[in-house]
Amino acid sequence: MKHNFGAGPCILPQEVFKQAAAAVLDFNGLSILEVSHRSADFVAVMEEARENIKKALNVPDGYTVLFLQGGASLGFLIAAYNMAGKHKRAAYINTGEWSTKAIKEAKNAGVEPVVIASSEDKNFSYIPKGVTIPEDVDFVHYTSNNTIYGTQFKHIPVTNKPLVCDMSSDIFSQTIDVSKFDLIYAGAQKNLGPAGATLYIVKDSILGNSSIENIPTYLNLAVHSKKDSMFNTPPVFSVFVSNLNLKHLLANGGVPGIQQLNEAKAAALYAEIDRNPNFEGTTAVEDRSLMNVTFRLTDESKKESFDKLWNDAGAVGLKGHRSVGGYRASIYNALDISSIEVLVKAMQQL
Ligand SMILES: *Cc1c(COP(=O)(O)O)cnc(C)c1O
Repeated sequence: MKHNFGAGPCILPQEVFKQAAAAVLDFNGLSILEVSHRSADFVAVMEEARENIKKALNVPDGYTVLFLQGGASLGFLIAAYNMAGKHKRAAYINTGEWSTKAIKEAKNAGVEPVVIASSEDKNFSYIPKGVTIPEDVDFVHYTSNNTIYGTQFKHIPVTNKPLVCDMSSDIFSQTIDVSKFDLIYAGAQKNLGPAGATLYIVKDSILGNSSIENIPTYLNLAVHSKKDSMFNTPPVFSVFVSNLNLKHLLANGGVPGIQQLNEAKAAALYAEIDRNPNFEGTTAVEDRSLMNVTFRLTDESKKESFDKLWNDAGAVGLKGHRSVGGYRASIYNALDISSIEVLVKAMQQL
């Protein structure tokens, strides 16, 4: 087996792959790929998946969980449409490419984005601190983990405004206080399941309260909430496998358990980056991501040798994003610490 350090879609537990494969051939006598989304069997899966999200993240009462489509990329637009209030202005913290895209989509929804802080001046290598949030905005939006640059918020921005977060690449990796948020959204394909579904956790009190009239039907979260996430055909297979993965997570220590493992994995890899003179991290130390570890060689002439070492060791997906260069090890929930050990060994052999 290869060691998959890819940024997404990414590794899931082997047991989940096996159960998913079995259900492609036999899900109560049909394939999970052919089953009607309105059948009692699948409705039960959808309900269980929504419940398991609540269990895994301790979602308090007063929130609705939805599995929609379009990825986080559509989430940028959905967030702005649904959260728009009387100002039709929103505060955005710009910490990388995904935040930049969210800002662009706010405009497309008719919401004026106010960039209250940005780390673009240093190629998004840090998280801006101590932001001031203006009074005349409807909500605050940020990206909790910057998948491309390898930075992560270690705190929830303090604000009395409704808070919206794109958690695509760190949801389920550590405990979060959902009660601080009005809307959380995340593409499934990082820590939840296969590509296809997009998770929304929305505070009920915001549903139907947008100041934007004529929100396109599919983009209106109130529509999906009323239909229990079954307004149209949901991404059946992605929801099914996400539920398998949630059950696996809950049976193995839940989010607090996986957080401990994630911290140990990240600590082992960052320790080697800091110890080994052949490597250096690319982000501010205090803002280092637990999920996407970015680093580079201190001497580029060693690239060929290092690439051969990790390739030969069976690692894949380590190439850094084109906007950062170097390497990026995405170490999501399902990546075992033994894969980190393989990578560290390759680094030591250079
Ligand atoms: C992967 C990712 C996205 C893009 O998600 P899609 O589902 O491909 O639209 C957006 N935001 C973050 C933080 C991501 O990691």
